[in-house]
Amino acid sequence: MGFEQYKDVWVFIECFEGTPKNVGLELLGQGRKLAEGLGQQLCAVVIGKDVEEGIQEAQRHGADKIYVVQGDEYRHYSADGYGYAFLQLCRKYSPNTILVGATINGRDLGSKLAVSLHTGLTADCTALSVEDTGNVVWERPAFGGNLYAQILCSDTRPQMGTVRPGAFKKPAPVEGNQAVVIREDIHAGNIRTQVVDFIKACADGTIPVGEADVIVSGGRGMKNPENFAILKELAGLLGGTVGCSRAAVDSGWMPQSRQVGQTGSTVTPKLYIACGISGAVQHVAGMSGSGTIVAINKDASAPIFEVADYCLVGDLFEIVPALIKELKARKQA
Ligand SMILES: Cc1cc2nc3c(=O)[nH]c(=O)nc-3n(C[C@H](O)[C@H](O)[C@H](O)COP(=O)(O)OP(=O)(O)OC[C@H]3O[C@@H](n4cnc5c(N)ncnc54)[C@H](O)[C@@H]3O)c2cc1C
Repeated sequence: MGFEQYKDVWVFIECFEGTPKNVGLELLGQGRKLAEGLGQQLCAVVIGKDVEEGIQEAQRHGADKIYVVQGDEYRHYSADGYGYAFLQLCRKYSPNTILVGATINGRDLGSKLAVSLHTGLTADCTALSVEDTGNVVWERPAFGGNLYAQILCSDTRPQMGTVRPGAFKKPAPVEGNQAVVIREDIHAGNIRTQVVDFIKACADGTIPVGEADVIVSGGRGMKNPENFAILKELAGLLGGTVGCSRAAVDSGWMPQSRQVGQTGSTVTPKLYIACGISGAVQHVAGMSGSGTIVAINKDASAPIFEVADYCLVGDLFEIVPALIKELKARKQA
């Protein structure tokens, strides 16, 4: 089968209990760019038990077509169930390009599909474009983030990639967009796993870093785990949550679920306050897409200041309490 028979850019809209995760919608923005570059359509794939919200959101965020597979067996993600359904769709419609969010389930699904389809997959892409040959250029950090590799899938189709949540911004809603909805009656018979329970990663009720509008992050400069209390207080006053660098995780001060960066979460909050973080390339890779970046560091030459919008050179143990005092005063006024 020639490459010209593989059509359209597909985006997997991963849902949890019927609600689409942001990453699928973020990828519709990138998918649109690729679809325009390839002169093809942008399609969403929604698989689940309750699919209506996924369909609506995919439509609202610009999909031209939405492939839907619905059934009780798809209530929770399973590699067997979702892998089977997605594969049947691919075999029937032959997509050119597939984008999947690099969530735990998305990584699982993407790699399973790539193996089944005998094609390549580039994981954790940070930039996507199309070259004249019709190949997608999948760009991702390599060698510990010290350089960026551009990867092509030139011998097989579909071409596939995963992208981390938060790596791209959600596209603006396309008012009045009318997508063609194609429902396929596919039922996966042989699902070998069963979801027994969900345990929340943030059992303390705090906002996960990937979902917060405001993140106050601490690094090695915090000196010990107890000192993170001032960051929690500042985050609380701003309606946000606490993040950290890998140094803070490696020191045992914070859980890995709070780590921002290449081997942690990629975050795009409206406000990111980095306290006692030097700004290593692996940390910056996970937070440079934030709306406004404030950095507090006593070293004026710290690399974090290169990406910061507001650079506060000084001792965080003086600056953070001063910010807390001022915010409290304003709340009381
Ligand atoms: C493959 C790989 C993946 C990695 N992934 C990640 C990742 O996902 N996330 C990540 O963060 N790192 C990651 N790292 C580690 C990264 O290279 C850095 O080592 C790490 O980010 C450093 O953390 P830090 O900035 O907290 O500590 P440091 O680099 O030690 O910086 C501490 C900063 O605190 C400042 N400071 C100290 N005291 C004060 C004070 N009282 N007031 C104000 N400032 C003060 C210092 O001036 C300094 O700039 C990775 C590394 C590798 C090799």
